[in-house]
Amino acid sequence: MEYTVNFIESVKRTPSAISFRFSRPAGFTFTAGQYMIVTLGDDLVHPLSLSESPGETGFLEFTKRMTGSSFCRKLQELTPEDTITLKGAMGRFTLDGAEQTLVFLAGGIGITPIRSILKTLANRQDYPGKAILIYGNVNEADISFREELEGLALPGYRVVHVLADTKGVPGAHQGYISAEIISKEVPDLKNTIFMVSGPPVMVDAMQKNLVGLGATEEQIRSDVFLGYET
Ligand SMILES: Cc1cc2nc3c(=O)[nH]c(=O)nc-3n(C[C@H](O)[C@H](O)[C@H](O)COP(=O)(O)OP(=O)(O)OC[C@H]3O[C@@H](n4cnc5c(N)ncnc54)[C@H](O)[C@@H]3O)c2cc1C
Repeated sequence: MEYTVNFIESVKRTPSAISFRFSRPAGFTFTAGQYMIVTLGDDLVHPLSLSESPGETGFLEFTKRMTGSSFCRKLQELTPEDTITLKGAMGRFTLDGAEQTLVFLAGGIGITPIRSILKTLANRQDYPGKAILIYGNVNEADISFREELEGLALPGYRVVHVLADTKGVPGAHQGYISAEIISKEVPDLKNTIFMVSGPPVMVDAMQKNLVGLGATEEQIRSDVFLGYET
């Protein structure tokens, strides 16, 4: 389905990530983890994940890493009541109802569909599984949705930060998310579903890490944010 929606407002999340909110068409539904094709004009078309949980707000929200591209510039020029076109929702980076341990591996802006899924799980209040978020970023300032993600009420839930620069984030691991960090933080690799989201290099590295640790392909679901080199 294609929709014309109105821009409402933007919310700065970090120095390089901004959320953009749009009107929600009547009757529109999506599943946490899905994305939409966002058209801002000729040749300005990108898939963006819905970063809010489906039932929580009266608006649709996307969160974009700002790169200075024409697409980003156009987003930042939007004023209330400007219209854009959305197609979807689509994508299978979603939960299938399996009630087991979920380990989310997010690389930077790859947090967007994971935030939607985690908030949805927390809102359910009856999720009997266990959830861990392993979240890689450059530094403290770069962590989108930090306070909110750390405050989610889910059984056995915790956020493991992995940062190039750990200053200001007690307990964070230094460096990139590695096989060592995953095996240390996830005690029972066998009975776990891994949800990986981020730029292509990050997703590729995580798949190698997980397979190296003995995870099967069925245990790994990925959302690859094409269009980013790092
Ligand atoms: C399923 C999915 C969900 C995504 N969700 C988000 C999100 O929530 N937040 C976010 O910030 N980004 C998301 N992305 C990435 C986003 O769609 C853009 O590709 C990315 O942000 C780069 O766009 P840009 O405007 O910053 O730079 P641009 O200058 O427009 O693109 C950078 C380079 O990447 C190439 N490129 C751009 N898009 C694609 C593509 N789809 N496939 C192949 N090459 C491409 C361009 O040709 C260019 O060379 C998602 C991507 C996918 C596939």
